Amino acid sequence: MRTVLLGAPGSGKGTQGVVLSKKYNIPQISTGDLLRAAVSAGSELGKKAKTAMDAGALVSDDIVIGLIRERISDNDAKNGYILDGFPRNIVQAEALDAMLEELDQPLQGVVLLDVAFEELMQRLTGRRTCKDCGAIYNVHLSPPKTADHCDACNGELFQRADDNEETIGNRLNVYQDQTAPLIGYYGDQDKLHSIAGTGNIDDITTAVGAIFDTL
Ligand code: AMP
Repeated sequence: MRTVLLGAPGSGKGTQGVVLSKKYNIPQISTGDLLRAAVSAGSELGKKAKTAMDAGALVSDDIVIGLIRERISDNDAKNGYILDGFPRNIVQAEALDAMLEELDQPLQGVVLLDVAFEELMQRLTGRRTCKDCGAIYNVHLSPPKTADHCDACNGELFQRADDNEETIGNRLNVYQDQTAPLIGYYGDQDKLHSIAGTGNIDDITTAVGAIFDTL
């Protein structure tokens, strides 16, 4: 099942991606995670990406398209994947379509997690992630039982470097200008499914799953 989760920063793509990846036994492929790993490793690619990431801007298309090309050819992605945070603009979407056409394995569906702009800021400033298992919490909306520790594995929680108010503002603008046009792009291909990304997390998973089951 070859799918994309589309949505603004803070819309829940990562949270849903983790759960759905387990449910459907296909990898969640997040360009943000791949880039953060490259930055932590101090690789050349990570150094190139860091400035744009710190500013909340997009990393160059060449870099992220290269990362995706490699990652989707890994063995664990042969039965499909959930792309999270890619594509982020029309150039990337066209590159993905061309890449998948070559493999004769087109995208099957794109799910938009629709969340009102005002809610995104609160979600992003409160977001905390487990260093060990990647589970995502929110200190305002869904806090862990023990402060700073993961309920599932007791790993330490951290706040992403780009989850500060100034960078968040830029990231939301970038979404509006560059990523939101993908709604029309995939709508024209009849691949877009839009669901409300607010309310109970499990209910949202059920709604996305109901769409995945039709693909
Ligand atoms: P995310 O974890 O998806 O919110 O991504 C964090 C940051 O990584 C973004 O603000 C961008 O700087 C960079 N990034 C992630 N995915 C992409 C992409 N597909 N294209 C360009 N930059 C990206």
